Amino acid sequence: MIACDCPVCQSADKKDKRLRASILVQSEHTTIAVDAGPDFRYQMLRANVKHLDAILFTHPHKDHVAGLDDVRAFNFFSQQPMKVYANKMTQEVIIREFPYAFYESKYPGVPEIQLLNIDMEPFLVGDIQVTPVLVWHLKMPVLGFRFGKFTYITDANNIEPVEKDKIRGSEVLVLNTLRKEKHISHYSLWEGVEVAQELQIPQTYFTHLSHQMGKHADVDLELPDGINLAWDTQVINL
Ligand SMILES: [Zn+2]
Ligand SMILES: [Zn+2]
Ligand SMILES: [Zn+2]
Repeated sequence: MIACDCPVCQSADKKDKRLRASILVQSEHTTIAVDAGPDFRYQMLRANVKHLDAILFTHPHKDHVAGLDDVRAFNFFSQQPMKVYANKMTQEVIIREFPYAFYESKYPGVPEIQLLNIDMEPFLVGDIQVTPVLVWHLKMPVLGFRFGKFTYITDANNIEPVEKDKIRGSEVLVLNTLRKEKHISHYSLWEGVEVAQELQIPQTYFTHLSHQMGKHADVDLELPDGINLAWDTQVINL
């Protein structure tokens, strides 16, 4: 957090350096980003991403959409618009917040975006099958995504039983937990542990961690087997 002197923000451990939540999902032929928050540009540079087939959006909060403008570099090299998958609510916010990308006559160099609708049906991006999972962020519907044996859920504090069934059977789940104390629209650490255990996921990682969560090394030690904190630049091979 900007200007914060707490032990997490001042920690020298690289696992305590937390940018905004996002993941890259890659198969042999396809690369997808989930969300493009304010750190998108640096995250793409850091991961040395040369080509992106699509961006999937979970929900329209600023910490998940603010970096979309930077797809212009991918447009330049691929000479293609970026495929952006989102539900109607998120599409409306994208059009409102990046209006210059949607004008009839565009200023040269603005991002080229192809908006594609996500209903709740599974769909293919290249050779990656995507199954949307509906979760609740207080009163906002948010999309989680299942890719084969891997499921990514962020910005949730409630998941209905029928949607939990879509997550069951995953080998790895990434789930948001903001901090130890209860929060109005995010799972807390121990609520996240309950979800992971209820769904009997072999390995769960927590993401979207606030500095209020405490230091990675300390919190990770308190967690049950098969449940860990995620960290920026972590790679999971499945
Ligand atoms: Zn802090
Ligand atoms: Zn949010
Ligand atoms: Zn968020």
